[in-house]
Amino acid sequence: MSAVVGATVSTITDVHVSGPGRGGRSDPEPSDVVLAGGEIVDIAPRGALRPAGEVLDGGGGWLVPGLWDHHVHMNQWARTSRRVSLADARSAAEAAARIGASAADDAGVRVGIDIRDGLWPDAPTLAVLDAATGGIPSYLLSADLHSVWLNSAAFARAGRPANRRGMLREEEAFAVMRHLDLADPARVDAWVGDAAADAAARGLVGVVDLDMEWNEQAWARRISGGFDALRVEFGVYPDMLGRALTEGLRSGDQARGLTGERAAFAELARVGPLKVISDGSLGTRTAACSHPYPGGEDHGRLNVDRDELLELMTRATAGGLACAVHAIGDVACSHALDAFGITGAWGTIEHAQLVAHVDIQRFARLGVAASIQPMHALDDRELLDAYWAEQTALAYPMRALADAGATLLFGSDAPVAPIDPWRSIAEAVGRRREGEGDGDGGAWQPEQAVTVEQALAASTRGGTGIVRPGTAADLVIVGADPFTANPEALRGMAVRATLLGGRVTHLA
Ligand SMILES: [Zn+2]
Repeated sequence: MSAVVGATVSTITDVHVSGPGRGGRSDPEPSDVVLAGGEIVDIAPRGALRPAGEVLDGGGGWLVPGLWDHHVHMNQWARTSRRVSLADARSAAEAAARIGASAADDAGVRVGIDIRDGLWPDAPTLAVLDAATGGIPSYLLSADLHSVWLNSAAFARAGRPANRRGMLREEEAFAVMRHLDLADPARVDAWVGDAAADAAARGLVGVVDLDMEWNEQAWARRISGGFDALRVEFGVYPDMLGRALTEGLRSGDQARGLTGERAAFAELARVGPLKVISDGSLGTRTAACSHPYPGGEDHGRLNVDRDELLELMTRATAGGLACAVHAIGDVACSHALDAFGITGAWGTIEHAQLVAHVDIQRFARLGVAASIQPMHALDDRELLDAYWAEQTALAYPMRALADAGATLLFGSDAPVAPIDPWRSIAEAVGRRREGEGDGDGGAWQPEQAVTVEQALAASTRGGTGIVRPGTAADLVIVGADPFTANPEALRGMAVRATLLGGRVTHLA
């Protein structure tokens, strides 16, 4: 390959292209692909055109559209690698001991991530954590980011009264996490740059960033500082909706505040949706469900009631903002679908982890896309058995939604799962975790597996998964044909090059 990272390519030679009329298959004959003005302008048999300008030799690889992760928390994801992973801690005592044994970060605190306290035999308490951690403020974030276990020093640092369990949930937990995320912006921006480069190396060209901050400013600052590895659509939260509407932000608008030579990159960052978190989560047992959680009468909860949701979505829609409504339990999904129908809002339901049978058809009918995270389905298998065995609605109904004509959008919800679109595609298609064979019980809920075509379409922006003239030159060259690759080959897919509007963002 002759081009370098940062070069704008005019011709990609010698690649196999997937496209319409090939039945979701790649063309066995290699093509040359001509790019101009950030778009694909021609696809011709290899050698039929004389290559001009910057040439990228595709080396006989396969060309697919650039991939998107439709739900990330970029700032939190960038920090994750700097935090203590407690994903495999088997008890409260073990998690407390391990965070207590770790070094404080340069802000003088310890942050552990990925705890799954719902599966622990012992209850997390303030006393257990205090005994292990002493006077250094220590925070243990749950895997689903809907709860935080804090020691007394962390409660004091947050200016909140400690409680006996040491646990904060939902809004109180979000507030503590927001506070934790207010580190030196220059340092965090450098981490975000590293995380974006890693994402481009997996074939990613864009993310929907749902960080809980005033994201326009953060992204304009990052782009001013040289960020150019990804497209970003950034969300707005209800506490900032008034400001967004007053300042006239509309979904699709470019980020403001970029001047000079970096202004040309403003198109990379655009206003995304209003994000509303309408219920809790499975791991925290707060997702709003029609049947109670085991051992009681608790059905989870709606974080916003019906009238509040309608009001938020009406204001957003009138102001030109799309809506992304987090709804995990079946009751929350029904409410969210009702609200889309009543308000005429457009956008997505995020997660849709438990959907009533009667609601499956409504996604397509209302034009509401299902923004789902295939990796969570497999990560949550044990929690599903523990907490949702009695539910009668469909859990993780990926194939059911696709068959009903709904638009699927795949994402990771990083840092809940890593940004890794090929792993996401592999697990959506194969319904197994890495290294699992038939001896491990086989594929999980195989009836909800989607096809490679459906998975690729859900992982791209246009929703087609097809490379064709007239579309953006957001492209990936991979080392194997995804349409014939098995799930393990999809998981380990070699990404040779990634192009964003014809500009090379990654080269193997
Ligand atoms: Zn999220």
